[in-house]
Amino acid sequence: MSPWQCAIAGCGASFDDAEATIVHQATAHDHHTCKICDAAVPEGYFAIRHALDEHGRAEYVRAYDASADDIRERESVKAEIEATVDVDRVVERVEEEGGF
Ligand SMILES: [Zn+2]
Ligand SMILES: [Zn+2]
Repeated sequence: MSPWQCAIAGCGASFDDAEATIVHQATAHDHHTCKICDAAVPEGYFAIRHALDEHGRAEYVRAYDASADDIRERESVKAEIEATVDVDRVVERVEEEGGF
């Protein structure tokens, strides 16, 4: 079984590594519209990064009706990804495929 699976509802595509998963989520899925600032951001990792980095926990909790556990889960996904992949390289690949 592949260790990386797209967690977006109804998808379930699986990949050999985190980088491929993130590129898939950012390019194969519709953009996510931020509930806080209405920005269109690529789905998956970039949507999480946008919400946590641009807005912070308190705003995220209010806008998404999220719990402290939800935040912790997203922060751990984000940290795991950032420890595993070269995010700059992923950004380049997503740009090449027109994800931004
Ligand atoms: Zn997917
Ligand atoms: Zn936003």
